[in-house]
Amino acid sequence: MESKSTYQILAYYFYTRIPDAEEFTQHHLKYCIELGIVGRIYLAHEGINGTISGTKQQCAVYMDDLKSDPRFEGVNFKIDEVENPAFNRIHVRYKKELVYSGLKYIDPNKRTGKHLRGDQVQEMMNMEDVILLDVRSNYETRLGRFKNALTLDIENFREFPEKVKELENLKDKKIITYCTGGIKCEKASAYLLENGFNDVYQMHNGIIGYAQDTGGKDFEGVLYVFDGRVSVPINTVNPVLIAKCKKCGDATDRNLNCANVDCNEQFNMCEKCSEVMEGCCSEECTHAPGKREYNGTGFYSKPPVAIAMLNGKLDS
Ligand SMILES: [Zn+2]
Ligand SMILES: [Zn+2]
Repeated sequence: MESKSTYQILAYYFYTRIPDAEEFTQHHLKYCIELGIVGRIYLAHEGINGTISGTKQQCAVYMDDLKSDPRFEGVNFKIDEVENPAFNRIHVRYKKELVYSGLKYIDPNKRTGKHLRGDQVQEMMNMEDVILLDVRSNYETRLGRFKNALTLDIENFREFPEKVKELENLKDKKIITYCTGGIKCEKASAYLLENGFNDVYQMHNGIIGYAQDTGGKDFEGVLYVFDGRVSVPINTVNPVLIAKCKKCGDATDRNLNCANVDCNEQFNMCEKCSEVMEGCCSEECTHAPGKREYNGTGFYSKPPVAIAMLNGKLDS
């Protein structure tokens, strides 16, 4: 990607103890509004997780400021260049757990799977006793996943512990877990270790980190992301598409939320069919009272709140 872009996206997470997390959340929100960045930040007693967007200068200030707090000294930012800020407002919220898994008691700072860089993953991924385990949700893996990866049919990460029971026969294998940016794997790999899997690894910084290290070789399809971009192509080496249009069956890189707000189902549909279906998943939804006007992307952000205006450059 050529870096003529004015804006950046920062993705980061860090497990660290924040005893005053509720209070810190309020301060951090105020700080972010003053700085003018947009995005989503979650804080918990166990750490921080954020995806934010702003100008390069705003992002540089944010990174410096966060790292200057000893609790966040070790945080590691994944930086992406973008044409436009990927969010239209800022959320800073306190949560009981960074990624809800029901595994609140697990502290990845005590024990977690070994982190592997992209080149190390590549060295191992095709070996016979190695399993690449995708711990993301089904709508994510439908759009993109590693060749030969084991995927789980879960809608939410909280179903992960239950699914592990079905993996009993893999206890003697080397397991490499992966997710989008790495955060889920901190706990997923720790949970596997705790449940008798002996040789557990995790993709350092997730698929995003792997792609930055290797060009994304052997990642099939596109990467689902939780912002206005919906998905991003990350394999520049041997890209293919794996998702199929729900209507015509053609390969597509598109994921939509149904335009019927009462349905809101996620599905894959090519551009042409989406126009015909007005962004709906089914004929039925096109007649539903809750049908929104199809916006051409199938990503509907909530009504913008008048905070965190980014240099007046926000789309309406
Ligand atoms: Zn189609
Ligand atoms: Zn629908």
